[in-house]
Amino acid sequence: MKTADAGGSNSVSVWEDDPGSGVLVSRPIPDLSKKPLAFRFPKPAPEPSVYPPGAADFRYWTAAEALRRGADFWSARVPLTKWQVGATLKVILCEEVGLNAYYDRTALNFFYDPSPTGTVYSGESPDVVCHEMGHAVLDSFKPELWDVGSQEVAAFHESFADISAILSAIQLPSLRTGILQDTGGRLYRNSRLSRLAEQLGAAIRAQRPDAVDADCLRNAVNSFAYLDPTTLPNSAPAAHLSSEPHSFSRVFTGAFFESLGAALSAKSQNPAMPTEAELLSVASDLAGVLISAIKASPVVSNWYAQVAANMVIAAGSVDARYPPIIKAIYVRRLILSLHSAASIASVPPIVGAPAAAQEELAEIALPADHYGISGVLFVKTPSQSCRFVALSAAGDLSSIQPLGAETAAQVFVDDLFSRGRVDYGEVVLPEARLDHGHRLKSHRLVKTPGGARLARLLFDCDCGCQ
Ligand SMILES: [Zn+2]
Repeated sequence: MKTADAGGSNSVSVWEDDPGSGVLVSRPIPDLSKKPLAFRFPKPAPEPSVYPPGAADFRYWTAAEALRRGADFWSARVPLTKWQVGATLKVILCEEVGLNAYYDRTALNFFYDPSPTGTVYSGESPDVVCHEMGHAVLDSFKPELWDVGSQEVAAFHESFADISAILSAIQLPSLRTGILQDTGGRLYRNSRLSRLAEQLGAAIRAQRPDAVDADCLRNAVNSFAYLDPTTLPNSAPAAHLSSEPHSFSRVFTGAFFESLGAALSAKSQNPAMPTEAELLSVASDLAGVLISAIKASPVVSNWYAQVAANMVIAAGSVDARYPPIIKAIYVRRLILSLHSAASIASVPPIVGAPAAAQEELAEIALPADHYGISGVLFVKTPSQSCRFVALSAAGDLSSIQPLGAETAAQVFVDDLFSRGRVDYGEVVLPEARLDHGHRLKSHRLVKTPGGARLARLLFDCDCGCQ
């Protein structure tokens, strides 16, 4: 363990990115009541001081500092005036036993779990904390992504949360300097910045060796390319891609992090050794590009391609060097087809607010016998209309035509039930259920005339270890 900075009387001592990487830093005392994006912990704050790792008060200030830093970053970039749930978001640090954490439109919830090397608190990791906060941020400016039936949208929510962890970490000057040293100025290299949630990953690996990456929960340096998620299994070892949202999120996260590294090299005075100020500036640029793209993108079944294409468009008004870099990486990863990447230049600019924001998602009635439901299941579909066509590519580089909105929703719901993520509530008789034990549910069934409606409960880590 090493200390990155000396503590002072007006500061707190916190982890820079994760207990697993073990770097401490001294930071100003965070103001959790600061608006926009205030936080509230149920218990009173401990006296600000430099507590040792392992102390509950140390964990409190580590979570508090990471939350304040991440929320300040996003509130300025989006911009945001409040959370989806209102002015203040509740934070519960020790919700229950397990290796998990979740955002449920009520609070950010963190778990604790004994591991062979001591109790793991998911709220002690700035990576995990800023991941969950990322869900809350995205939900605050694109709430229509919350319960739409779409594999790509659910995976993107996880990717945005991981990107939130990375960009929040980059706001620390000491981390920027440390990472540029550790990677020799080549950001897109395996580092404690690319390795997300090392400690939580190790604890999960001890229980399920193939469930997470070899050195962390998920690594943003990866070589995953897009595959049509409907062709993927619903779960797979971490070395392979599956349609499970956290697994599939790695395609987009890898592309974004690779774009960040390439953009930094392109803009640095000395590409062989970018400065920490240049890293801060380029990260801010690409965060803005991503936000603009999300706002402009209609909610459709091939959401990855839409966001990627809109990133290219948004990047053009930031710096002319960015679009070719982003196009190259997203084409190489098959998120954008060659044809789609080439046609972006002819897309007319948006005048005024994106039309997609005003269009309600259509709800359809799915046949639901195979879920044990008597009647139909109402689900929101990725049904907004596209301003232009953007397509992902298959392995032979041909463009993939997107699924219809209803088919996309059907596939998504089949996936949920097969993975045991739906709370049947009072809707399905016990003998007609699949009993997946105490697995945390991400969705629930709400009884309605004619059948049931699918509603999202939360976004979580879904490591399957409960
Ligand atoms: Zn998540």
